[in-house]
Amino acid sequence: MHNGLVIRSSSIHAAGCYTTKAIKKGERVCEYDGPRFDKEQADERYADRIVTYLFSCGDTGMVIDGFGAAMFVNHCCNPNCETEEVDGRIFVCAVRDIAVGEELTYEYHLYDSDDAEGDCYCGAGNCRGTMFSVEEVARRAKVAKAAKSKAANAKRARLVRN
Ligand SMILES: [Zn+2]
Repeated sequence: MHNGLVIRSSSIHAAGCYTTKAIKKGERVCEYDGPRFDKEQADERYADRIVTYLFSCGDTGMVIDGFGAAMFVNHCCNPNCETEEVDGRIFVCAVRDIAVGEELTYEYHLYDSDDAEGDCYCGAGNCRGTMFSVEEVARRAKVAKAAKSKAANAKRARLVRN
């Protein structure tokens, strides 16, 4: 695993993870490791927190509450890393050569977080403006549309009553 990672303030969000050594494409940079919970335990544990980024581990229903360098890796819509799951462990891997001093990023593909803020300010040319996955954005649009037509129907019902 890569041993030249430092945490310092980031223009993307709060603190970020930077490399002090060049990283080759395909190299495993760090592991997203930490306590593991199932989804219900995590919901209970984090009910009071406004924003939490738990890493969801494949289809197992387990989530990882990360600590260490990996939890400081920010989201970017044009990332230089991606995550890879191997036997229930999550590794952050370089998707291209990364130069000394670059901030490490990967796409969060957030989902299932109804009230969490997910706006993206990564500044990439192709920034989607959100850290939510494409599927989650579509799901939310559908929910919003349903709520809107429900409100419209209620209005119509009121009009009829009058
Ligand atoms: Zn972005």
